[in-house]
Amino acid sequence: MGGTAIPLAPAPDWIQQQAQVITDPAELLALLGLSRAALPEALQAAADFPLRVPRSYAARIRPGDPHDPLLRQVLASGDELQEVPGYHADPLAEATHTPVPGILHKYHGRVLLVVTGACAVHCRYCFRRHFPYQSHLPTAARLDEALAWLAARQDIEEVILSGGDPLSLSDRRLGELIAQLAAIPHLRRLRIHSRLPVVIEGRITDALVAMLDEQRWRATLVLHANHANELAPSLRGEMRQLQRAGVTVLNQAVLLRGVNDSLAAQEALNLALFEHGVLPYYLHQLDRVAGAAHFAVPDEQALALHDALRSRLPGYLVPALVRELPGDHSKTPVAAVAEADLQALPG
Ligand SMILES: *Cc1c(COP(=O)(O)O)cnc(C)c1O
Ligand code: SF4
Repeated sequence: MGGTAIPLAPAPDWIQQQAQVITDPAELLALLGLSRAALPEALQAAADFPLRVPRSYAARIRPGDPHDPLLRQVLASGDELQEVPGYHADPLAEATHTPVPGILHKYHGRVLLVVTGACAVHCRYCFRRHFPYQSHLPTAARLDEALAWLAARQDIEEVILSGGDPLSLSDRRLGELIAQLAAIPHLRRLRIHSRLPVVIEGRITDALVAMLDEQRWRATLVLHANHANELAPSLRGEMRQLQRAGVTVLNQAVLLRGVNDSLAAQEALNLALFEHGVLPYYLHQLDRVAGAAHFAVPDEQALALHDALRSRLPGYLVPALVRELPGDHSKTPVAAVAEADLQALPG
């Protein structure tokens, strides 16, 4: 309005925050005042799957605590170097459900569209840590092929933008993509699976809210947060903006040993999600990906924890405890897996 005041230096925007992530294990340890004893193994593990931690996420880690639940999710560790039977590079056999590059089609009426291999954070337990992104990344030609496939498949009603992390794309790129999807008449629902708004502040820009509001469908955002300490106070306002635009916001978490495998941690997470305007959706049993065995929680313990959670919280704050099994037509309730195991026991 013609004023001459120079604004205060703004907080780095989300694109800058992505560029300024911590990638050196030594820097992360120094920042948190932690011992360098485990550094050689951390460097070795990070050579396989690089370390990547946004600074605002690091700021939520308790300094001086080597067992911090957020630190455990992001610090490369020697445990990853162990070869454990039953843990594989492609635990979900995703390579066999790819009709065209970039599309994963396993379930009725909905597909994942892999739109980028990039993430703002690298989660050490990630089931895609060995995913061959290079052969799936959406070059223009590949994306055209994926869109043509979607246009020909009248039975697909929902597209789930996935990755990597789809919100690591610029608003302009996302806007183009969403417009191309919206032009396919039989698509009725748009979903975005993203961890980025949890680990970087300010990703829910006005432009993003507007593009999700404008479309002819109601969009759903499924966040990925595993611990109450991950939820920044600023997230609440961001989620409120999305809800005003008619976006449904849910959360999926992964059950992780040493991170959120206690009743207290689960209770706190689901209550904190609600405080931020987010409803719990899934609590996933870990996919058996090579390098992540140290995060696994046995099914029996997971079921007991889930039962205990149900006895503490209202039903709408208890996520479904599921596992993904290659070949199944949906995520499988862990209770069903356990029953099937019992029946498979020899008489
Ligand atoms: C998890 C997943 C979905 C989504 O499943 P919902 O139960 O609808 O959340 C869709 N496609 C693939 C390939 C998936 O792995
Ligand atoms: S943000 Fe999601 S896809 Fe990216 S490393 Fe973490 S779990 Fe994997």
